Amino acid sequence: MKQKEYPVYKGQVLEVTITGYTSEGQGVARVEGLAVFVAGAIRGERVKIKIAHLGHTAAYGDIVEILEASPERQTPACPCAKDCGGCVFWHMTYEEELRAKSQRVLDAMNRIGGLNLTEMPITGSPSVTGYRNKAQYPVGLVKGKPEAGFFKQRTHQVVPVHNCLIQGKQADQARECVVRWMQTYGITAYDEKTQTGLIRHVYVRTAMKTKQVLVCLVVNGEKIPHEKQLVDNLLIAVDNLCSVCISVNKRAGNTVLGDKFVTLYGPGTIEDELCGLRFQLSPRSFYQVNRDQAEVLYGKALQQAQLTGTETVLDLYCGTGTITLALSRKAKQVVGVEIIPAAIEDAKKNAKRNGIENAEFFCADASQAAKKFAEEGRTPDVIVVDPPRKGLDEQVIDAMVQMAPQRIVYVSCDPATLARDLKRFAEQGYRTDHVEAVDMFPRCAHVESVARLSREV
Ligand code: SAH
Repeated sequence: MKQKEYPVYKGQVLEVTITGYTSEGQGVARVEGLAVFVAGAIRGERVKIKIAHLGHTAAYGDIVEILEASPERQTPACPCAKDCGGCVFWHMTYEEELRAKSQRVLDAMNRIGGLNLTEMPITGSPSVTGYRNKAQYPVGLVKGKPEAGFFKQRTHQVVPVHNCLIQGKQADQARECVVRWMQTYGITAYDEKTQTGLIRHVYVRTAMKTKQVLVCLVVNGEKIPHEKQLVDNLLIAVDNLCSVCISVNKRAGNTVLGDKFVTLYGPGTIEDELCGLRFQLSPRSFYQVNRDQAEVLYGKALQQAQLTGTETVLDLYCGTGTITLALSRKAKQVVGVEIIPAAIEDAKKNAKRNGIENAEFFCADASQAAKKFAEEGRTPDVIVVDPPRKGLDEQVIDAMVQMAPQRIVYVSCDPATLARDLKRFAEQGYRTDHVEAVDMFPRCAHVESVARLSREV
């Protein structure tokens, strides 16, 4: 759409009614067919907005005044809600957030996936605060002093945060301690523009069940000065601290962790309990950030796998083997595939420590592994996939179809790519029997889904 064809102009003030939400949780209004996205607005509300920006397919408006507030509106419990790019739903009740998320998954399934569903069940999280077990606080200079917090929305400007409501309390303890250590010893914060300065991120992982904590400093260097003081201070400040390490990341860009890790204290890993199993976690291993809801999600994946004990199961994108090992107790044989070597090492150790002997793990790209397994003539009864947001490559889908499993269980963190892939599977003879949503990330825009597909005979 050319700029002159917009029915609105930048700076225009107008009144609109919010009719839905974007996938990022902004309110959506329509003005002569044009979608206008309004952050902080709730479905059903009448708001006065000022057009701030004209995008390719939509305009963006800022709220000037709420003319008719939704009964779902609430005062954000988080003082950072306005500035922080992390959470987007603090201004509404959790019930309305769940409705928005369920609608998002439903719309994706019907519009992109070509399904004809009328409702989308969603399971909410038992806790909407303090649920996150992983924190990555960017470090930067604020008024000349090093601070750690979050990036102000759409910028890389660090805003100090003292109590992130969705994080556990050990994350706050670690962040405050590292900042004090930096200020005391004059340790420099990394500057993205000049690529100078030492400390880039404070990364904290907490095992919610065992309470063990790992603190990792991401540094633009091979080592840190005053290392002993840092460890001593963290041991005093952080409840149940188990491991301290640094991650060397000297590359420009947004990737938080580097490839090299140096342990300063403890084993360099922590352990958590999930689905009745013990898991060892390295800083780089994927682990669902909401442990309690992960149990719910994996329970649903397991239920959809409909195992009787005789099946062979392939779990692609297995991480540290969480789903694989949960499946192993109900299957004859399970095979997990994952691309990160540290995660696969953890997965093998996790199988051993849980006394599981019917699980095998391979470190490989899912697409290559699936292709190889298909060529070898493997025929798993069930394939479980849990890919990153971009979903499945077509080669993965082709290879999966070639293996002809009875059922496919698809765990997804992006409804749009899930829907796209369900459609591709449908074209190759796999019917979607069931889809449901699970909210792992209260107050944030993301939502998980589980789908079950079966082979049409
Ligand atoms: N099922 C696991 C992990 C899911 S997250 C759990 O629930 O804990 C997705 C995983 O896919 C990550 O561990 C990531 O490292 C892995 N991954 C990403 N791209 C991959 C690829 N091309 N091949 C195999 N694994 C990949």
